[in-house]
Amino acid sequence: MALVTSGRVTNGDRKWLERAVALAWRARERGDHPFGALLVTPHGGVVEALNSVITGADPTGHAETNLVRLAGKTDRATRSAGVLYTSTEPCAMCAGAIYWSGIGRVVFALSEQGLADMVADEEGVPPLRLPSREVFARGGRPIVVDGPVGLVSATAVHEGFWG
Ligand SMILES: [Zn+2]
Repeated sequence: MALVTSGRVTNGDRKWLERAVALAWRARERGDHPFGALLVTPHGGVVEALNSVITGADPTGHAETNLVRLAGKTDRATRSAGVLYTSTEPCAMCAGAIYWSGIGRVVFALSEQGLADMVADEEGVPPLRLPSREVFARGGRPIVVDGPVGLVSATAVHEGFWG
């Protein structure tokens, strides 16, 4: 079993999740979908990314996939010891990207289901219902996943955006 839930979400984790939500607001304010993510490395490094689906005209421009691309400049050991924080649970595409990046732990605030409950079929594009844990569980390396972490702000950033 390559999937682990630590069940230990610290105040420090919550602080970084609030930062991810702040990034989601920045994405929303510039016209993109309201998602943000960051990677915190053990040496205090922080890599941040925003959703860029609209401004980048890139359907794959999700925050976590963008983050993995940026984090590729770090070495694998750093990524393995790093923690990815994201405002909303990674989709199946992003979970795959995270898997290939070697990042060791993922913490998310709003769940995929929580998002789906807020997002009616967006302009005819139905959701991809494949929770991140199901993707990670098929992998050949261990990855720690914690979430959802209940944050009012993580829900609020989506309010009034979809539909
Ligand atoms: Zn995604």
